[in-house]
Amino acid sequence: MFQLVGYDEVFNGEVAGLWRKASGAGESGDAHGISHVVAIMGPQSSGKSTIMNRLFGTDFFTMDEDQGRYQVTQGIWLGFDRKSGTAVIDLEGTDSRERGEDAVTFERKSALFALAISEVLIINLWTQDVGRLNASNILLLRTVLEQDLVLFHDEKSAPMRTKLLFLFRDHDMATPLPRLSNVMKEDLQGIWKQITAGTVHNESQLEEFFDLEFYALPHKVLMPEEFEAACLELRANFQKEDIFKSSYDRQLSLDGFPVFAGGVWETIRRDKELDLPAQRELVAVVRCDEFKKEALEAAEEELGVVKEAINTGDDTKLAAVGEDIGGIVSRAFEVFDENAQRYPEKAVSKRAELEASLSALATGIFGSHADKVRRQLLEAFGTQLKSLTSWNGFGKGLKGFVTTAMGKFDSLCATNVDYIEPEYSAKREQLSSSIELQARRWRDSAVKSSLQQLQAHYGSSFAPPCAAILDAAAKHVDTVWALVAQLSHKSYKTVKEEASTRFATEGLALPPDVERSAIIALKLDCEEETLRQIHGLIGSPSLFLTRVKQCFFDQFRNDANGLPRVWGPDDDITEVYEKALEVSADVANALSTVNRFDLDDPEVAKESVKHFDDECYIEQIKASLQKEAEAAFAESKRSQEQMKAQ
Ligand code: GDP
Ligand code: MG
Repeated sequence: MFQLVGYDEVFNGEVAGLWRKASGAGESGDAHGISHVVAIMGPQSSGKSTIMNRLFGTDFFTMDEDQGRYQVTQGIWLGFDRKSGTAVIDLEGTDSRERGEDAVTFERKSALFALAISEVLIINLWTQDVGRLNASNILLLRTVLEQDLVLFHDEKSAPMRTKLLFLFRDHDMATPLPRLSNVMKEDLQGIWKQITAGTVHNESQLEEFFDLEFYALPHKVLMPEEFEAACLELRANFQKEDIFKSSYDRQLSLDGFPVFAGGVWETIRRDKELDLPAQRELVAVVRCDEFKKEALEAAEEELGVVKEAINTGDDTKLAAVGEDIGGIVSRAFEVFDENAQRYPEKAVSKRAELEASLSALATGIFGSHADKVRRQLLEAFGTQLKSLTSWNGFGKGLKGFVTTAMGKFDSLCATNVDYIEPEYSAKREQLSSSIELQARRWRDSAVKSSLQQLQAHYGSSFAPPCAAILDAAAKHVDTVWALVAQLSHKSYKTVKEEASTRFATEGLALPPDVERSAIIALKLDCEEETLRQIHGLIGSPSLFLTRVKQCFFDQFRNDANGLPRVWGPDDDITEVYEKALEVSADVANALSTVNRFDLDDPEVAKESVKHFDDECYIEQIKASLQKEAEAAFAESKRSQEQMKAQ
């Protein structure tokens, strides 16, 4: 038993907890067993609390004569009869002396509250007052009838019947109950006429809205045995249930009682119009929200355990994470659905909210699990890649590593839970593309260093024979570049074959388009290498000059067999000199422009490249050659003169 509303009209803030405890409700507030509400109104000290305790086994405070304590019910109290599943409301006396003038307003509020909440309203009256109703009794009855009309029979609200159960106290058997009942009915009709006169209910009968029932109880002190017997009989009636007809049902799910009672009372207290459907809707919203929170909290707690497993668990535990999360999510829905079915009109939207939150929670936790697995696998993959020290076997090795990584990801993260499936797919995709990226980077750098090596191979196979061709340029002035082109073609063919081996499936396993562009790059590299090598041989003015001079002196100083000439007295030095000058000029001309060829086809000339763009270099070279040639010529002439003079 606890107080719902204080004497000061304030609704007890603890009601939710007290209700849960006192009604024996489960964690969710499920009011098992409590299915009805009954209230009692009547004058102060008319034995209301006493009779409710007798009828429902409650323990409301009563004015205890024996101990001389004066304990009058103040405000509104709530007790429980778990046996009959009834919540019992005991109200402050309607003629409260303490309230004075305010008693009338409090009585109106009490009546509204009692009618809104209880299916059966007991009205407690002294038998002696029946037929001689005093002002306050009339006021009480009038208030009850009026407020019932306001609540359940104006245009807006759905009509609802109310049972008024009259208890005639201290019945002395002098007047039989049927007579008392009739007198009471007549008085009620009178009051009814007064309040409906001139309203829409003018033509309506009291019985259209109310079920009336009358009981007489003997004097508790004078006829205690009879009193107790009558109490037992009435109690048995309440246990039978048929006293609560479905037409009185206030349509509130009792797990929402605290919210409903609080809302109703606050509205009444603030003198606002009481809109019961709106109140019921409020209860539905509040309760479904509570169910949602409870389901979420329970899920969060369980997910905490899963989190722990993610942080510390072994593979067996990790592999179960998806399923565990799925179980937690469906349990949360089960609990919510079980509770929220009482409020079908709000359950759907709150379920959607719950679904959103649960899905976010589950996704978050699963995501961190999948992320952790993903990072570990990516790291392991990187280590495995590093173990590949050469291009050889890359393709086969890579395939194995990828299969291992993706397989392990699936075994640790695969899930059949709808909520986390997208997260699984996303993380899998992420892992697969990271792996692909790493593999591509590794492959690209392997391709790059392969190209460098191949270019070097090309250079070293091309350069020495090229130097020989250039050295002997005087012998094949017209075909020097054709020879170089054939040489470069041959050298390129060899490295191209080597490249194909490296790039094939057994090697780097390059996709066809990548292989194609690698080969194109190789060709460009080799072309560049060709020029670089040639440039290294003849590309600077001094190298060029040396080579041309070499050519001149070869021709001038050596004979056709390459042996040094000894000038005889009859030798025509001038002719040899001019011939040598001519040949070296031809060589200079031929070498001053490099002909580039297509490495794949030496017959196709691409372009000519001059060593020196600046003409003056050529002039300088020619002048320098001329000078040295003339000096050599003069010296030869001199030695011939000397020989002749001897
Ligand atoms: P309440 O103020 O209406 O709740 O009245 P209580 O239940 O506290 O009882 C007021 C006083 O009336 C107490 O001293 C009771 O013992 C006494 N009382 C209870 N029931 C009866 C009854 O049926 N007849 C009479 N005469 N007194 C009663
Ligand atoms: Mg009382």
